[in-house]
Amino acid sequence: MVERLYLKDMYMKEFDATVTKVDGTRAWLDRTAFYPTGGGQPNDTGRLVSGSIEFDVVDVRKDGGDVAHVLRSADGLKAGDAVRGAIDWEKRYAYMKYHTALHIFDGIVVARHANAGFSTGSQIYADRVRIDFDMPELNRELAQEILNQTNMIIDEGRRIIVREVGRDEALRMGNLARTEPGRELIMKLDIVRIVEIEGLDAQMDGGLHVLNSREIGRLDLSAFTSKGSHSKRVELRMAQGSDEIPV
Ligand SMILES: [Zn+2]
Repeated sequence: MVERLYLKDMYMKEFDATVTKVDGTRAWLDRTAFYPTGGGQPNDTGRLVSGSIEFDVVDVRKDGGDVAHVLRSADGLKAGDAVRGAIDWEKRYAYMKYHTALHIFDGIVVARHANAGFSTGSQIYADRVRIDFDMPELNRELAQEILNQTNMIIDEGRRIIVREVGRDEALRMGNLARTEPGRELIMKLDIVRIVEIEGLDAQMDGGLHVLNSREIGRLDLSAFTSKGSHSKRVELRMAQGSDEIPV
């Protein structure tokens, strides 16, 4: 079982590890900061460096309880080799910002518009985040209003708290999972990882986040699409000229 460094320190950009297995172009490590695709957040990319040879990490996938690093070429790499891993930080940091933004936007819907509908899915990209809703009354105006509230919370510098709780406590907290598969998953877990936006929202989550909402910067509503009477799609992007505010 791999040690998931990305869960312990979401800001880890480089790390040392030992190769445990190589199969074709895939490599497994004893510890990794590379995030594998999951929970709407794409995988990291980057490099593994062994001595003077650099191996490009082009994909990272969950592999049972393990993490498989897909390399452009694994020629010359073998089990037992010491490597230094480096993730493409700019892209990963964008994923973290959009992931936290998604939780804030959705948290506002849950806290203030729960009677109107709920989110049904989302996808994080390096330059935007897409959120789908089953929410008949959601239109561009209401989406903009929720986004204004999202930007206010971003500006307030709310803490993002990541912690683990036992299943019983998770069930007592209620509403940690927003979908039926999520609720079923909580029943099966002994330990539940929770991502909390201070004073707004708590969700079961395996993804990576910024630790202070101000790191996100200001967001724009880059697209609103009505895909039917219930199905609405919202897309958020970093506002032009918006730089992150140092914390
Ligand atoms: Zn999430």
